[in-house]
Amino acid sequence: MDEKIGVFICTGYGIAEALDIDALCKVATGEYGVPFCTTVDSCEGPGLKSINEGIAAEGLTKVVVGGISARLYAEGDFPEGVIVEHVPLREQVVWCQPAGDEDTQMLAEDNLRMYIAKVQKMEPVEPFLPEETIDKSILVVGGGNTGMTAALEAAKTGYDVHLVEKSDKLGGWLAKQYRSVPTKPPYRELEETGVDAMIAEVEGNPRIAVHTSAITGEIAGAPGLFDVTLKSSGNGVPTGEVLDSFRVGAVIQATGWRPADPRENLSYGDLEDVVRNVDLEEMVKEHGRITRPSDGKEAKSIAFVQCGGCTDPEHHSYCSSICCLTSLKQALYLRERDEDAKAYIFYEFIRTPGQYELFYRRVQEDPGVFLTRGEVTDVARAEGGGLDVTARDTMAGEQIQVNVDLVVLAAGMVPNSADGEAVRALEDAKVAAEKGESDVQRAQAAEKVEQLKQHEGTAILNLAYRQGPDLPILQYGYPDSHFICFPYESRRTGIYPAGCVRQPMDGVGSREDAAGAALKAIQCVEMSSRGEAVHPRAGDRSYPDFFLQKCTQCKRCTEECPFGVLNEDVKGTPLLRATRCRRCGVCMGACPERIVSFKDYSVDIVSAMIKAVEVPDELEEKPRLLALMCENDAIPALDLVGQHRLAYNPLVRVIPVRCLGSVNAVWVSEAISAGFDGVLLIGCRYGDDYQCHFIKGSELAFTRGENIREKLEKMAMENERVELHQLQISEYERLPEIFGKFAEVIEEIGMNPFKGM
Ligand code: SF4
Ligand code: SF4
Repeated sequence: MDEKIGVFICTGYGIAEALDIDALCKVATGEYGVPFCTTVDSCEGPGLKSINEGIAAEGLTKVVVGGISARLYAEGDFPEGVIVEHVPLREQVVWCQPAGDEDTQMLAEDNLRMYIAKVQKMEPVEPFLPEETIDKSILVVGGGNTGMTAALEAAKTGYDVHLVEKSDKLGGWLAKQYRSVPTKPPYRELEETGVDAMIAEVEGNPRIAVHTSAITGEIAGAPGLFDVTLKSSGNGVPTGEVLDSFRVGAVIQATGWRPADPRENLSYGDLEDVVRNVDLEEMVKEHGRITRPSDGKEAKSIAFVQCGGCTDPEHHSYCSSICCLTSLKQALYLRERDEDAKAYIFYEFIRTPGQYELFYRRVQEDPGVFLTRGEVTDVARAEGGGLDVTARDTMAGEQIQVNVDLVVLAAGMVPNSADGEAVRALEDAKVAAEKGESDVQRAQAAEKVEQLKQHEGTAILNLAYRQGPDLPILQYGYPDSHFICFPYESRRTGIYPAGCVRQPMDGVGSREDAAGAALKAIQCVEMSSRGEAVHPRAGDRSYPDFFLQKCTQCKRCTEECPFGVLNEDVKGTPLLRATRCRRCGVCMGACPERIVSFKDYSVDIVSAMIKAVEVPDELEEKPRLLALMCENDAIPALDLVGQHRLAYNPLVRVIPVRCLGSVNAVWVSEAISAGFDGVLLIGCRYGDDYQCHFIKGSELAFTRGENIREKLEKMAMENERVELHQLQISEYERLPEIFGKFAEVIEEIGMNPFKGM
């Protein structure tokens, strides 16, 4: 179909009162020769209907609507196949600028110019549909409480599942538990774990293929096309022998946790009768008795030591959320089994979230359970037998001592994860140590091998990914992606951690988490089969196209992609695995050759928008400032500025970007060459509490921004002409200040000397 552009200018919401609409239409029809331009009373409801009627009647293929913010439209509001862009005349012009003002009009006209230039360059998006059929089955790694629940949830929804368990039977820690904490009202009685029934349900489900004594030898490919090789974990079959191979569409990592090492001063490992909470649980489950390991005598008194190492910054510095509940549970079953037994619980704080508070109260009622707020300072063998536990009672301020048969340490949780990036770095260092170009390089690489050698052989998933064989991990080893906004996500599309490998949680929480991960896996295979991106650009059908004839194999894109999308061939040429891609554009920002583009977002498109702005010459003494702003937080924040009717500097021209990481340095130099006096880059917060929707895009932009500023200096330009800011949506009130202060800086250093050259 021939291309035909149309422009609709909305006159509602005070737009007609604030702006010269005829002049705006002239920009479209005069300057840009747009064949169709009209006004509408509103651009929602009946106004939207009349726009769509106009699109159909005129046979428009590309449309610019000047009116309300793009964020107020939903998918399907405009006809399929028509490219539609929105000029935010209401939120970003008339709601934050004085009506009838010359600068307000220039702002509106420039915004219209930018979006007409944008649609001129945009091309229709065709979804990426691989030639091979997308496989919709799901691999679950880990056959404990979380893994079995995820498998059952996915199977019940109609998806085939491969459930892989390293040991020779299903159940994980759940199978080692004697009793479970109460999970239903009135939250007073201990419960059976239900593990046998769960295992039977899994094994009896025809949609679930159970693979015990197996590990994932390799997971190659991409969502919808993962090729899995299972290897023996050694129970009866030689370790590492290939057992099976199959294809799946998504992966759930439910590899669980292991107990943290207890604090050293509690005599664990020195005294046999000092055990961990997991040891006690297994002892009762397996032998049906609570005994002292030293002599096999029945234990009549137990001291439970909370935070047996956790919350200690030197040791294990976070709360594992279930240890208090476990000790309360174990104290209760000790008492239920023997009414003369005594349980002493020493705690700094007791955490029993939600309804578990009722269970805590139930345990407090028991006359044989003694809860003491205090710090255990010593555990020693008593002369008369048993163990002496010395504690400082922090409420009464005195030292106390009890003699007990057994000491149980509340050992925290450590995730069964691996640092995939470190494993990859170790592999790279090994190669460099052997094949480095100089003695110095080889020596440096050898040093790195030493530093990283603890990661040798630790891989769990064994992903055939350029960026490493496992999900990247965050603090404490948890492979979360975005703990503030999107806790179920990971940094590898189609691979979802669930349960205690994702964060410490109880059994109920693990089952909820498993259901969430199953849902994410199902979303992923379904959206991949339609050629659509998953979160956070859910439904986006665009994908990056690499013009590889001009690729210099610099590897920036493969290294900087936050999601490990790009593999490399032997020469270092990027190989796109499109169903892994989140469409963030970070590769586009990284590429010095500018050969990465989306049909609807490219270096060329944004360059055209920059060049579309009418920059006054130096004689007019009105600077022009460009703001490249992340559309995830910074642009919504700018809409909020308008909604709160806060005024901001009208000389700033704003271009939304998918992620600050997608900003290519060339845009800054082009803006300066086009006469802009300064460039602002505004993206999400980065660091440990990052809010960047694309994980490290914002941080990368800051690194690249520093390089840009250095380059400006080398060009004898003031580096103050480029400023970078982190902003979260709730900080919208900062935006007018950021714009205003930047304008002052520019005023101080003077106009861009390249203006008009
Ligand atoms: S950087 Fe973003 S757009 Fe590029 S390949 Fe990776 S996920 Fe896709
Ligand atoms: S950043 Fe560009 S030039 Fe470098 S490897 Fe990637 S595509 Fe090739």
